Amino acid sequence: MRIDKWLSNTGYGSRKEVKQLLKSGAVTLNGDIIKDPKTQAHPEADVVEVYGEKAVYREFIYLMMNKPQGVISATEDSRHKTVIDLLDLDVLAFEPFPVGRLDKDTEGLLVLTNDGQLSHTLLSPKKHVPKTYFAKINGSVPVSAHEQFKAGIELEDGYVTKPAKLEVIKDDSEESEVLLTITEGKFHQVKRMFEAVDRTVVYLQRLQMGNLKLDETLPLGSYRELSEEELDLLC
Ligand code: URA
Repeated sequence: MRIDKWLSNTGYGSRKEVKQLLKSGAVTLNGDIIKDPKTQAHPEADVVEVYGEKAVYREFIYLMMNKPQGVISATEDSRHKTVIDLLDLDVLAFEPFPVGRLDKDTEGLLVLTNDGQLSHTLLSPKKHVPKTYFAKINGSVPVSAHEQFKAGIELEDGYVTKPAKLEVIKDDSEESEVLLTITEGKFHQVKRMFEAVDRTVVYLQRLQMGNLKLDETLPLGSYRELSEEELDLLC
């Protein structure tokens, strides 16, 4: 691997910043100062130090994004802006992808990583990873919705959902607010569950995935790396 990639991935800045760092003579490879960004180094065999501090190579990145409306959860799209377009890939020097999908008009917690194994685990139907959504719906919360969602509700295509938990925050004849926790991720699932009880979701936000909660101080469209504690909550 090129030394500039190694350093960039390890948190020493963009490729451009790393180039400056190398030029300044701050970086050693197995004890020798190196200045060429193209220098090859092997994570398992070589020791890279910056100002005498070991720069341990890491393979994966884990990000939490507060997804805004208007962008799609895909890696590329010819017509729409994607969540990847919101990342500064130059600085990140990784190629993360979104773990699962949120609709274009859904906001909130989206994890992005280049760790395929973790993504697979989180999305596996066998794992039943719970996901909690905050939703605003038109009208009041139908009394029967609690029982229907708990038992599993039949969607318009005949699919019967797995048991889900509904909590009411505000029940109002105009517009109500609820929390819904589901353990699967069918297409438009939350919206379709409410459609099945004659309600329309007018706003949807994901708040939690597994035990990982959305950092609500993160502005919409922003992202940050998960802390080690947060990563443990996810796994
Ligand atoms: N359910 C939906 O309907 N939309 C989402 O984005 C996520 C869950």
